[in-house]
Amino acid sequence: MLLKTKGKPLNITEPLVLKVTRDQNSAMPNQALICDNYFIENKGRFDLVLTNLALGTVSFANPFIHSVQSLDHLAEGDIIVANTDGVINTLYRVNSHQNFLLATERCNSNCLMCSQPPRDREDIYYLHNLHQKLIPLIPKDCLELGITGGEPTLLGNLFYELLAKIQSELPNTDVHCLTNGRSFAWKNLADRLGAMKYNQLMLGIPLYSDDYKTHDFIVQAKDAFNQTVQGLYNLAANNVRLEIRVVLQKQSIPRLKKLAQYIYKNLPFVEHITFMGLEHQGYTPFNIDKLWVDPVDYMEELGEAVTFLSDKDMNVSIYNSQLCLLPEELWQYTRKSISDWKNVYLDECKTCGVVDECGGLFASGQKKHSEFIKAITNHFFEGSIK
Ligand code: SF4
Repeated sequence: MLLKTKGKPLNITEPLVLKVTRDQNSAMPNQALICDNYFIENKGRFDLVLTNLALGTVSFANPFIHSVQSLDHLAEGDIIVANTDGVINTLYRVNSHQNFLLATERCNSNCLMCSQPPRDREDIYYLHNLHQKLIPLIPKDCLELGITGGEPTLLGNLFYELLAKIQSELPNTDVHCLTNGRSFAWKNLADRLGAMKYNQLMLGIPLYSDDYKTHDFIVQAKDAFNQTVQGLYNLAANNVRLEIRVVLQKQSIPRLKKLAQYIYKNLPFVEHITFMGLEHQGYTPFNIDKLWVDPVDYMEELGEAVTFLSDKDMNVSIYNSQLCLLPEELWQYTRKSISDWKNVYLDECKTCGVVDECGGLFASGQKKHSEFIKAITNHFFEGSIK
C-alpha cells in the first residue's frame, strides 16, 4: 500500500498538514486540492494544490506540487503532510482503523527482532509539530489510534503533551501506545500518566521472558527487565491500562510457559496478553539464526502458555499467526492483527476455506514464512475469531 509519493514543489516553505479533497467547490479550511485540470478558478482558496500534471512553467503564488508520481492512493479526507522537498506522506487514512502516530525513531532499547530499527537522529520536534497540526484534523469519530516508535517516552514532556492533545481533541478514541515501559521505572513519570486519568489509553509493553538475562539479551539493554517490571508496577498503581506483548522467537519460546506463570503470579493486573508471530523486517533478517523457529515447531509451548493464562481467566490472544499452522483449539485466540497496509495472503491462500477468518501474513512474510502453510479445504468454520 502506497503511503508516500513525491512531486515538484513550488512555494512550500514549511511542512503543510492538510486534508485532501477532490471537490474544487469545497470551502473547508486546511485542505489540499487534488486536481487533474490546473486551470480551475477556485484553486487559490486551498492551502495546497496537488496535481499529476507537469506544470513547471505556470505562475501561482500559493503552495503547489505538480508532477506528483501518484495520487490515486489518497481518499477524500485523508490527511497528508507535504514537505518542502515535494515528498507527500500520508499521515491518516479515513478508511482505515489502523492509523498510528510515529512519536520518534529513537529508542533506548535495541531489540534483536526490531521491525523498525532505531535511528539516532533528531526527529522529535519535527514529528511533534506535525502531530500538533494533525490531531485536530482527525475525524472526531475516529475509533482507534496507535502511538508507536522508537520509544515514545523519549519525548519527555512532549509525550505527555501529545497524549493531552489526543485526549482533548479525540476524547472517544481508543489510544494504544507501544512502549518498552522502562521509563516508568521512574515513579514520577508513571504518576504523571496516572494523573491524566486517561481511560481510553492502553500501553502495550513487551516482556519476553521471566528470566531477566534472557529479556535483557533480547532487548540488548542491561537492566531492561528490572526497569520494565518496575514500570509495570508503577503504572498499575496508577490504574493505567496495560497489555503485555510477547514476540515468539527462538530466545523466548523455551520459557513461554514459565513466562505465562510469571505473568499470572506477578502481573495479574494486566488487561491483555498477546503472543505475537515474528515479522521478517528490520533487524530480523540479519539476526535470523538467533530468532527463527518455524511456527509449527513451537505450537506445544505456545498452546501451553495460552491455555494456562486462559484457564486463569486472563485475556489472552495470538497475533500474526496463520490458521493452517495452529492447532484448531487455538484458533479462538487468534486475531486479525496485521496492519492493513502490510497484510498479504499467499497464492496458496486463494483456495483456502478459512481465508476470511485467517489474519494472513506480513508482506515481509513473502520472503520468509513457515514451510507448512497449506490451504485448508472442506472446513466448516464455527469459530469466534475476531
Ligand atoms: S492457507 Fe493462507 S489463508 Fe489459509 S490458513 Fe494458511 S495462511 Fe491462512
